[in-house]
Amino acid sequence: MRGLIAIAGLLAALGGALPLAGAAPGPLCGTGKNAAICFASVDRGGKLSPEDRSRLKAAAPVAIDIVSSRQFAAELAAFHAALPARWVKDNRYWRGFDPVAAPKAVRAAFAGLHIDTRGGARARASAKFGGNLAYEGSTDPRTGERFILLNRYRLDRPIVGLVSTYVHEAAHKGGYSHRPGQTPDQKCEPPYVMAQVARKLADPEGWASFVASKNACRFWRKMK
Ligand SMILES: [Zn+2]
Repeated sequence: MRGLIAIAGLLAALGGALPLAGAAPGPLCGTGKNAAICFASVDRGGKLSPEDRSRLKAAAPVAIDIVSSRQFAAELAAFHAALPARWVKDNRYWRGFDPVAAPKAVRAAFAGLHIDTRGGARARASAKFGGNLAYEGSTDPRTGERFILLNRYRLDRPIVGLVSTYVHEAAHKGGYSHRPGQTPDQKCEPPYVMAQVARKLADPEGWASFVASKNACRFWRKMK
């Protein structure tokens, strides 16, 4: 509950201008100046409990508002500027990275994106043994609709975790990648880092303990 209160406060802080009367944003849209950016759907397959579905929906406007915020762009630019130059040079995912273009690409990827889920034995096994949270999904060849797939066995997470997952998967849609193998440095590649910046803004109180965890890029621990 504390997390929800924090997010409400955050939205108030990020929102700026109030939406015009009569132009209430849709439930899967951003707020204020971001009201035109909307996810297309949550749980098209109707597989989720009402509780899970409403948590997934609640994370949608938070993700849009955070990635669209000045704070997000500033945090990402600061992280990028503080990366060891040599590490950037040797990393094909950071070489040529543009911290101004990246949030715009993620924001654009949110628009019209379907948030679907995947269940079944393989999803269950990869959640359990590989820590899999979600899949990048693809584009429906018939309709052109783009979708991501959340692992149905890892939905019971705080909204900040879902926000982070949306940012990560939308970053893939926006053209950002990382190595397939699980290495400590993978957490330092752009889709993870952008998800971590979103987490930092969505849950400032939890940031210090997150940074100390193995899920955070090791460079955060040096930056402070
Ligand atoms: Zn990924």
